[in-house]
Amino acid sequence: MEKRIYLDNNATTMVCPKAAQEMQKYHTTFYGNPSSLHTFGIETRVDLRRSLDYVYKLINAPDQDDVLITSGATEANNHVLKAVFLKNLNTKKNHYITTNVEHPTIYNTLQYLESLGAEVTYLPVGPDGIVKAEQVEAAVTNHTVLISIMHANNELGTIFPLAEMVQRVKKKNSQILFHTDATQTLGKISVDVEKLGVDYLSFSAHKFHGPKGIGGLYMRKGQRLDPFFHGGEQMASLRAGTLNVAGIVGMGIAAQEAVQYLDLENTVVRQLRDKLETFILNNIHDTFLNGHKNERTPNTLNIAFQNCEGEALLWDLNQHGIAASTGSACASEELESSRVLRALGVDKALSHMALRFSLSRYTTAAEIDYVISVLPGIIKRLREISSGKA
Ligand SMILES: *Cc1c(COP(=O)(O)O)cnc(C)c1O
Repeated sequence: MEKRIYLDNNATTMVCPKAAQEMQKYHTTFYGNPSSLHTFGIETRVDLRRSLDYVYKLINAPDQDDVLITSGATEANNHVLKAVFLKNLNTKKNHYITTNVEHPTIYNTLQYLESLGAEVTYLPVGPDGIVKAEQVEAAVTNHTVLISIMHANNELGTIFPLAEMVQRVKKKNSQILFHTDATQTLGKISVDVEKLGVDYLSFSAHKFHGPKGIGGLYMRKGQRLDPFFHGGEQMASLRAGTLNVAGIVGMGIAAQEAVQYLDLENTVVRQLRDKLETFILNNIHDTFLNGHKNERTPNTLNIAFQNCEGEALLWDLNQHGIAASTGSACASEELESSRVLRALGVDKALSHMALRFSLSRYTTAAEIDYVISVLPGIIKRLREISSGKA
């Protein structure tokens, strides 16, 4: 097979081989419905319990709290925002606080709730891509019901000071609910619901080497939400629908491995990311790092190449077998400049010249060396074209 280098791990990741292998059995041998009372059903339940234990461990959730298994972070994010909104329809509590760099699953859901009468404050990030805890505290009103702030941003990797935000908000009013979309941090940095103090946390398996179409919503004890899907009594009636057994097993193994390899993400993966970053900033002129230099997930690098159109760069890299991204998956399709980069104050032209490289524990030193060997030539050629010299 020709060379294929995958540096788009913030969009999705390879399923770890152990999870992929283990899942097979649940399609052809242990295919019983876990709600059934016969052996076919019963035998899957033990494995489900073990898989959930690994997920609880990954986020350090106490046993008495709920982890609702969903089809991914999109569903988890929709569930928490819409369920809280519906619950408060007849109260005066209709104010929500978020940031202006959230994933579309939060941003577009809140825009929809605004159309139904919610009031939403979109806190602006600073030039480093981060919202300060004081900003969140200052935005709280008597009507604030829920705050939703991502743990780390998908396009930049910037990490928000969540624990401090939660502390300040709860001190002001302990009734205010705090949700975080932690899809970009599980498996990359330590995620601990006890230390963060959040009430709700969303995640998705395919961002940490689990399968697609499975994820979850953590709910602190006492903060159970009404179901989003009504029907059967699966998941303690929190979500109707036959369980995705193979998906849950795959997510469990991915969670187990994410715990095992967390140190590696913060040493080996970080070093490879830093190597690529240092090379680009030192050897290719007019390049700018987007986001915070230090408060960042160890695998993510977002760089603007002046006078080099991001889409063209993406295409040239792809011709060399290298997969990167201009930002969010959706932004790539629309050829629209990134809402996140514009929120940083990056000027519109430059926001079209940004590229995101996102590594994983499967990225090798040889792969990064190869990118380093071809990137300067690609940039030079594209810059010559854009300046009319070619
Ligand atoms: C990928 C992603 C999502 C969506 O997750 P799915 O499981 O694909 O629905 C939500 N939020 C963030 C920050 C993401 O990176």
